[in-house]
Amino acid sequence: MKRLVFAILLAMVSSTALFAMPAPSKSDPLAILLLDGQSGGPYHAWQLTTAVLKKELEDAGLFTVTVATSPKFGEDFSAFKPDFNKYQAIVLNYDAPDWPADLREQLESYVKNGGGLVVVHAADNSFPDWPAFNQMIGIGGWRGRTEKSGPMWYFKDGKLISDDSPGSAGSHGNRLPFQVETRAPEHPIMKGLPHVWMHGADELYATLRGPGQNMTVLATAHSDPANHGTGHDEPMLMVLNYGKGRIFHTTMGHDVAALSCAGFITTYQRGAEWAATGHVTQKVPADFPTAGSVSLRVEIAKMDPGFLNGPPPRPEPFDTVAYAALFAMKKRAEELGIGGVAVVAYFQGDKIESWSSKMLVIGRMRDEPSDTNKGANLIGIAYAKAVEMADTLKDSGSQVRPPMTGEFGWKGGVIVRGKNGYLIAAFSGGKSEDDVKISTAGIEQLKTGL
Ligand code: ZN
Repeated sequence: MKRLVFAILLAMVSSTALFAMPAPSKSDPLAILLLDGQSGGPYHAWQLTTAVLKKELEDAGLFTVTVATSPKFGEDFSAFKPDFNKYQAIVLNYDAPDWPADLREQLESYVKNGGGLVVVHAADNSFPDWPAFNQMIGIGGWRGRTEKSGPMWYFKDGKLISDDSPGSAGSHGNRLPFQVETRAPEHPIMKGLPHVWMHGADELYATLRGPGQNMTVLATAHSDPANHGTGHDEPMLMVLNYGKGRIFHTTMGHDVAALSCAGFITTYQRGAEWAATGHVTQKVPADFPTAGSVSLRVEIAKMDPGFLNGPPPRPEPFDTVAYAALFAMKKRAEELGIGGVAVVAYFQGDKIESWSSKMLVIGRMRDEPSDTNKGANLIGIAYAKAVEMADTLKDSGSQVRPPMTGEFGWKGGVIVRGKNGYLIAAFSGGKSEDDVKISTAGIEQLKTGL
């Protein structure tokens, strides 16, 4: 009897293993370059997720993966020269505001000439002002994207529609499991997958905007208004063409836990093969999630050292939007040709007792002293505007009362009441009316999350 049980168990294990194995490849492994090194904030821990994304490709048995880590934003890029043409596809676990022109041109020509590109989650936050990149990804979010970046794209009544109503791009609710619905069942990446399957807890990206050209949405998910959602069926998986190149774009994969979903892993492995070759040879694994239950791979989830301590604490909502707000202010300042200091702050309730704030130096933080001028500390001025607003609850320079010591009474800061407290943005470095424009750009982003 024991032997029989053992035999049955063995049969179960080996059939599972057979299903889980990729089809054997007769050709050489596909060379993949996985790019990381920058993110919008510590909540996108590429230091952890790159190892996962690399392992998942290697587990498919079809790929060899090389990792290239770029310098940080603002550092010297002159020695960073990945040779894109050595690879069949590039995976972007990478979210950067901008790149040197020569690097941008190299990626453009690589994809245009038939290179594959895989865009994972916040990689679609990157490069808001690089038109060719936005063509490649189809849609993106945050980093100051607005209706100027393109319409929102989502499914309505079974059809992909574009919606050019104004507003900032990029939002998500709390990380919960959600159903993913196939929209292109005949596409090689989707063939054989269930029509609906349950993705593990993840950020469900919504209100992404972009040109959306040469884009096929493979799968969507319903963005639930009960979880800060849009009520729309938002694109989750997309394929695009740019020149001769193929792009696979998944908006899923916020952290190691999300990346441990067998549904994420399967679509990512298949998407990478398709981007590299135009074909998919991989079978659907036996542990692919069903419509009603998530399927996580524990050996992947364990790659997050926090795994055994339970789910990580949620980042403060302020942190998540403050970076986006500061980058929106930077973008506006650059449009206006102004340098200076941006400050954003948030406090709960109607009376300040403590606040969260972040600051970004954009080009310069001080005006140098001269014989006739003692110079200016722009950080000090920006914070003085913010603290005046925290007391008066009016835009800075409102003159509702004379400026007190520590204030200047200068315009250039904006305050609004959010859902649970006050949102503050202040800029110093330009003319008052331009400082106000830049602060307003920051407030618009803060409003999306607070
Ligand atoms: Zn995320």
